[in-house]
Amino acid sequence: MSASDRLARVRQALGTSGLDAMLVAPSPDLSYLVGYDPPPLERLTLLVVRPEADPVLVVPELERPLAEASPVGSLAEVRSWRDTDDPYRIVAGMLGGAHRAAVTDRAWASHALRIARAAPYAELVPVSEALPLLRAVKDESEIEALARAGRGADQAFEGIVGQTFAGRSEREIASDLSRLLGEHDHTQVGFTIVGSGPNGASPHHEPTDRTIQTGEPVVMDFGGRVEAGYCSDVTRTVFVGEPESEAAEVYEIVKKAQQAAVETVTPGITAEEIDRAARDVIEAAGYGERFIHRTGHGIGLEEHEPPYIVAGNRDQVVAGMAFSIEPGIYLEGRFGVRIEDIVVVTEDGVRRLNEAARAPTVVA
Ligand code: ZN
Ligand code: ZN
Ligand code: ZN
Repeated sequence: MSASDRLARVRQALGTSGLDAMLVAPSPDLSYLVGYDPPPLERLTLLVVRPEADPVLVVPELERPLAEASPVGSLAEVRSWRDTDDPYRIVAGMLGGAHRAAVTDRAWASHALRIARAAPYAELVPVSEALPLLRAVKDESEIEALARAGRGADQAFEGIVGQTFAGRSEREIASDLSRLLGEHDHTQVGFTIVGSGPNGASPHHEPTDRTIQTGEPVVMDFGGRVEAGYCSDVTRTVFVGEPESEAAEVYEIVKKAQQAAVETVTPGITAEEIDRAARDVIEAAGYGERFIHRTGHGIGLEEHEPPYIVAGNRDQVVAGMAFSIEPGIYLEGRFGVRIEDIVVVTEDGVRRLNEAARAPTVVA
């Protein structure tokens, strides 16, 4: 889908959602809509999209050349402001009579609050609330980029399991993972969680100097971006030497839960039904209380984005949506197990974008 198609789709969605404008700060929303990706700064850059008017990019004078050289130059009117101007009044001038406007989730509070003050008549709501599925349905080229990211992450996993874990620190494994991502298509490393033994019970654990011991499970959750800006995110739990019986058992439960949720995915099923499929398996095994997070999140230009695969989300998934399926069981003070793949909804079912081994992997 071309950028002008995307803009046209937003303008239409604004009309049907009772919104008078979408205010897009530098963020994945901006690069998605108009192919412009400047760093967020204290000077206001804001794309104003309205149903009945042409889009306008409000930009600091000194960034006008940068904006005009990007695709946004041909998609929107570029209106620049100087350091002695008040850019919030310029935006408010365009919002005259607006009742409700959606603002990019990633807009800095310093900008959103000043827009709210300059245009007190307009209620500002986060895009994730007003237009949650704006970027959720991926086109073919986006799915291809996500698939490439997934393959690169799988290859990084294949590389890491050939190495010795016992006696090395979580930090060393994490830095090997970063290097391996870079060797496999990634231009940016987003995160490398390595949780050994008891640290695996903390889902977002930051790698430490803790020395990994034989007999421990190690949770590795890592990902980054490939050139087009699309993300990878995969989790595998490996065993350093043969696992003790409860860890092996917990691993099988999580694997079964993950498989059950993936098999449920098909167009028309709700996000919460997918979550339920994973949770049923874990609850039946008696670990329901230890599955302490939602089953998954959408992925695209952001690591976490709608749709969220969580109880209470009755949105139906449709072909082209991409999200993670990542159940886990966390036993505080002991260990954790999580298995995560990215999947894409197809016309008649589901396709996994991660194929790294899900059978228990024993490392040295
Ligand atoms: Zn997470
Ligand atoms: Zn992850
Ligand atoms: Zn994830």
